[in-house]
Amino acid sequence: MTPDVRDETRRRSAGPPPGTAGGGSARPASAGAPERAGLSTQAGGPVAGAPQAIPEAVWDRALELIRDADEVALACHISPDGDALGSMLAAAKALVAMGKRVVASFGERRFAVPRLLRFLPAQDLLTVPSAFPAEPEVMITFDSSTLDRLGLLAANAGKAREVIVVDHHASNDGFGTVSLIDPGVAATAVLTEELIRRLGQPLDRDMATLLYVGLVTDTGSFRHSSTTPAAHLMAARLVAAGLRTDEIARELWDRSPFGYLKVLGAALDRVVLDDDLVWTYVTHTDRAAYGLPYSEVEAIIDVIRRTDEADVAVVLKQDDDGVWQVSTRSKGGVDVGAICTALGGGGHRYAAGFTSHDGVDVTMDRFRELLRKSRWPRAV
Ligand code: AMP
Ligand code: MN
Ligand code: MN
Repeated sequence: MTPDVRDETRRRSAGPPPGTAGGGSARPASAGAPERAGLSTQAGGPVAGAPQAIPEAVWDRALELIRDADEVALACHISPDGDALGSMLAAAKALVAMGKRVVASFGERRFAVPRLLRFLPAQDLLTVPSAFPAEPEVMITFDSSTLDRLGLLAANAGKAREVIVVDHHASNDGFGTVSLIDPGVAATAVLTEELIRRLGQPLDRDMATLLYVGLVTDTGSFRHSSTTPAAHLMAARLVAAGLRTDEIARELWDRSPFGYLKVLGAALDRVVLDDDLVWTYVTHTDRAAYGLPYSEVEAIIDVIRRTDEADVAVVLKQDDDGVWQVSTRSKGGVDVGAICTALGGGGHRYAAGFTSHDGVDVTMDRFRELLRKSRWPRAV
């Protein structure tokens, strides 16, 4: 498709389809009925399937703080995924369009956007964490369940006058001053779309791409149980803004450096089926042999968790500091979110993680112990 055609697609799609622009303030009770499937990307009116758990007064407070601020400082969690970075950059674009000074970053010493997400638009809005204001007037965090997950920028959040937390983790500990938190939505991108809409900013194609990346990565491409009618309706609104679903899918899921195959091979070679737990690990040495960055091994859990015989899947990934970042998944019988929270991490019921400074064996012993207790709580 030539750029001209794509521009035309965007122009044609920019407005709401006839009869779908929201006029009243009533929200649909259910997003399922086709007649309620508003595809409006227009700022102002309510949209189908909009998040409902956050009280109006809390939205109002967030909007007031943002509108009154000259500068807004944005941060997302470290080792950013598509939801964290996509949500933050989409919000950054909206705030720039509102005439705000915007700083956007994540708190890592070796500050680099993961290779997988280098195709994202609006990366020119990113700054290194050292350029982040020490005591922000208004800070907004994205997809971060605790202060810790902000890495270096936890200190800045600690000193910020106001911290607006935009998140969908059930494990969020409420570290901000304004909580735009709804564990019922599929991605932080859902809340970010709503925030942008309430700020009165229309979605351009870049913003739609950023939010779509958040939505598709966190729903596992609409496969996870978080894939509600509202998630599909949001996707429809975003696709209508003119993004290329095929190009995004290829970037996210259908490419990797050759070294990935070799490292995946090593991980598969040592995979263990332990009762109904399947697990493996990837060392720093595995990756170093092929110059493979840490972010490239994040997806290995998606291969491991397919094991029919297992209910729970775990992959331990050693990062560049030698620390183990542990990914866990459940098919439904076990709340891995609770286990990971107990181990100092967090996440969702069926997808969660934690960090371990101990070795593989000690870390797995600890995990298995909590797994056993979660199955037979009365045996504790
Ligand atoms: P991952 O396995 O990295 O895809 O993460 C799955 C879920 O667990 C995501 O919602 C993460 O935000 C969360 N998570 C992963 N690692 C940690 C951690 N060390 N601390 C808190 N939450 C985590
Ligand atoms: Mn995330
Ligand atoms: Mn998320």
